[in-house]
Amino acid sequence: MIFEIEEIPEGGLNFDVLEGKEHFGIDQTDCALTDAVKVRGKLTKIEREVCFSGDLEAPLLVTCTRCLKPFPLQVISKVQVHFIPRAKESSPGSEVEIKETDIEKELYEEDRVDLHGPIRDQILLDVPLIRLCQKDCKGICSECGNDRNSDPCECENDGQIDPRFAVLQKLKEKLK
Ligand SMILES: [Zn+2]
Ligand SMILES: [Zn+2]
Repeated sequence: MIFEIEEIPEGGLNFDVLEGKEHFGIDQTDCALTDAVKVRGKLTKIEREVCFSGDLEAPLLVTCTRCLKPFPLQVISKVQVHFIPRAKESSPGSEVEIKETDIEKELYEEDRVDLHGPIRDQILLDVPLIRLCQKDCKGICSECGNDRNSDPCECENDGQIDPRFAVLQKLKEKLK
């Protein structure tokens, strides 16, 4: 997914690729790509600025926030990237100047744009902070450490009661 600026025709360049997972470096124990990333979209060029607009599909294996079990998660997302050439020091003022606010813009060098970085960032942005293997994952028992989905335990603290409510409940019992 590296494109030479010169290769982008006037009317834009449509493409549809499966890019190997090794290009993205998403390989953490709690979040890893399991297969190629599907990227589809269009590159357009206006003078020296290049825009990409498209979709991505990324198959991941992530760990459940509650029970820590790995489970597959498919990220499907839209991507927009705006590339501008990095200003050359030798010709001040002749290239686009970067303002502090242009953080959403990607700089490119050597007359080619590389979509790997922006695609990787978008995938990571779309992985939710709280990821559950199932909607009502019961998690791990705080008393005995059992996975309460597959191995329900008899512990008194069944984990269903929010600790703040547990305090209230005890108060109520005392008042009886
Ligand atoms: Zn879970
Ligand atoms: Zn338990």
